[in-house]
Amino acid sequence: MRAADIASDLTDVLVTEEQIHTRLDEVAAQVAADYDGKDLVLVGVLKGAVMVMADFARALPTLVPMDWMAVSSYGASTKSSGVVQIRKDLDTDLHGKHVLIVEDIIDSGLTLSWLLENFASRGAASIEVFALLRKPEAAKVVIDCKYVGFDIPNDFVVGYGLDYAEKYRNLRDVAVLAPHVYS
Ligand code: 5GP
Ligand code: MG
Ligand code: MG
Repeated sequence: MRAADIASDLTDVLVTEEQIHTRLDEVAAQVAADYDGKDLVLVGVLKGAVMVMADFARALPTLVPMDWMAVSSYGASTKSSGVVQIRKDLDTDLHGKHVLIVEDIIDSGLTLSWLLENFASRGAASIEVFALLRKPEAAKVVIDCKYVGFDIPNDFVVGYGLDYAEKYRNLRDVAVLAPHVYS
């Protein structure tokens, strides 16, 4: 897709690449202090969290294992179904580990609440969440999210890992998808 065509699919740029990296450095410093001396493992939720995981993990000052889980709740629609399926489970035994789930976005919160319940039975020493983006107005369930990158309005966004029908993930900024693209 050419730049002009991409631009016509988007309305506002909500968060720039530069703002993301500045914020990731801040959260990484906080996480490094909070988990000092602890057996931390990052768990990324595929595929949306790929970009934030890659940049966040490299912003941390220490070596940290990364594992991945793939769940589906969306398909090609823009609304969460609340029905979650595991497409790929973790390779890591979480027993005794301090788990930090790395998520692209909390929208309704339904996916994460399901995931937290699923993880609770795996014997982790602690489980916390870092979400790059959060839409407070869209919450259907309350998620105790310890680290948040940015609170954003209740619009459908793409870029920096976030897709619409598998498109736009490799945009560098987070932008609002123009409604004419999906309506
Ligand atoms: P939730 O269960 O909190 O409603 O959202 C689950 C997943 O839906 C998120 O992890 C994300 O992959 C996707 N999602 C939610 N809101 C958006 C959005 O505004 N844009 C995109 N591209 N995906 C979203
Ligand atoms: Mg996600
Ligand atoms: Mg998606």
